[in-house]
Amino acid sequence: MNRDAMLQQISAVEEWDIVIIGGGATGLGTALDAASRGYKTLLLEQYDFGKGTSSRSTKLVHGGVRYLAQGNIKLVREALRERGYLLKNAPHITTTAAFVVPVYSWFEKMYYGIGLKIYDLLSGKLSLGKTKMLNKAEAKNYLPGINDEKLKGGILYYDGQFDDTRLAIDIAATAAKHGAVLLNYCCVTGLAKKGKTIDAVSFTDTVHNSKYTVKAKAVINATGVFTDTILRLDEPENPELVAPSQGIHLVVEKKFFPGSASMMIPKTTDGRVLFAVPWHNSVVLGTTDTAVSKVSIEPVPLEEEIQFILAHANLYLENRINRSDVKSIFAGLRPLVKKQDSKSTSLLSRDHTIIVSKSNLVTITGGKWTTYRKMAEDALDNAVFAAKLTKVKCITSEIAIAANLPAYKDQSGERFIHQSFSLSESEIKWFVEHEMAITVEDILARRTRLLFLDAAAAKEASPFVTAIMAKLLKRNSEWIEEQVNSFSNLASQYSLV
Ligand SMILES: Cc1cc2nc3c(=O)[nH]c(=O)nc-3n(C[C@H](O)[C@H](O)[C@H](O)COP(=O)(O)OP(=O)(O)OC[C@H]3O[C@@H](n4cnc5c(N)ncnc54)[C@H](O)[C@@H]3O)c2cc1C
Repeated sequence: MNRDAMLQQISAVEEWDIVIIGGGATGLGTALDAASRGYKTLLLEQYDFGKGTSSRSTKLVHGGVRYLAQGNIKLVREALRERGYLLKNAPHITTTAAFVVPVYSWFEKMYYGIGLKIYDLLSGKLSLGKTKMLNKAEAKNYLPGINDEKLKGGILYYDGQFDDTRLAIDIAATAAKHGAVLLNYCCVTGLAKKGKTIDAVSFTDTVHNSKYTVKAKAVINATGVFTDTILRLDEPENPELVAPSQGIHLVVEKKFFPGSASMMIPKTTDGRVLFAVPWHNSVVLGTTDTAVSKVSIEPVPLEEEIQFILAHANLYLENRINRSDVKSIFAGLRPLVKKQDSKSTSLLSRDHTIIVSKSNLVTITGGKWTTYRKMAEDALDNAVFAAKLTKVKCITSEIAIAANLPAYKDQSGERFIHQSFSLSESEIKWFVEHEMAITVEDILARRTRLLFLDAAAAKEASPFVTAIMAKLLKRNSEWIEEQVNSFSNLASQYSLV
């Protein structure tokens, strides 16, 4: 994936079959689907691929145990099917993982044991392993970091795990191989109509500050929590559709939670779900579900959310986590769809919603990373129907998503080395030349995950990465200074100390 080559195609194509707005999981999945069905496809992302909610997940490829408790069997079954496709099609970046629910009474053991057996049964042939009741010693064995004082045992079940933005880049690269044109740092600013139907999209390439208008037969709005902005470009009076709900995660060192199994607390004392998930040699703790009124590309964790995770994680762990132990903290916004009379965001739909506007604009929102492929299929089917394009069958359940980043054997050139993290000059070169990395943040937050694992280490790495990027991108010292400063500010937001 080379950005200049992608840009050149903008003037070479007279009319696109499908223009997708938004380069998160949903938009990227739709680009892969559309290109693999043979449609001329363009995707526009205002920042970097995955910069929105899609980099801020709990890193689970799952059916959603909590939705089972809410009785939403259809949603769980569909997500479990999609979990199966994802694990099959992207084995390099997904994995089957053991999860343990610690239990403190015989009632809990029966209740969660039966629930998780049903969860496994719903996955049918795609089961990742049998749900099993554990005694106290076995539960402690799986979760060596747990405080076992009142522990009665546990329930072992299996689910999937992944690296969200590495998968995003790999989906983008696979879409590009099928002929899609994908552009990051291209913000959609207008929709033009012929009669009542949208037939053109205007956008600004913010890297070169150039404006474009492209012809489109069908337009898909996959902008997550920004859905309403695009809906209002189409129809200024559109009522608000999305109710954003914030979720935060704290990342700590593995020593607080050793072992390879994840812990799932289905109901904290105030009724929420809490995960402790080993990830890249660290542990991700989360999440929260807080209704917020404003959307932002860089949402800020609230003090009460931080307190909630620290207090509740400490109830279950042997070694107490203090604020100074937190290596990184990140927040994301769920694009939940508003329902009349819902008081709490945790009661809003977690399923995806598709709206076809009078202008033929197809909006897709809600859902989750795990179901991105099915969301893409549904959005595209609607767009094809609305724009009367020739119908072609969806084949994404069979498309392998390969690793875009080669395994680097040749580590020549300079290296940044930091405890368990290292980054070479040749890798940075790859990110710039083949993965469209434009800023130091693109590399330290999404091509690698250092910002999400250790904000202080990412800050230390940024001058090294920026200097190499400047050589490759032919940027001057002013650019270097601006990049290092803005990344330093961002890293402070990901840090609790
Ligand atoms: C805290 C939290 C934990 C989660 N954990 C999990 C999990 O473990 N497993 C799971 O399966 N799901 C999880 N999810 C859900 C999942 O992350 C989201 O459903 C998914 O990432 C949404 O992807 P999206 O593409 O719809 O939105 P986004 O990723 O937000 O993408 C939308 C994109 O549109 C772009 N955009 C907006 N306006 C414009 C414009 N004008 N022009 C161009 N581009 C524009 C944005 O910049 C953004 O990149 C979690 C969500 C949250 C919040």
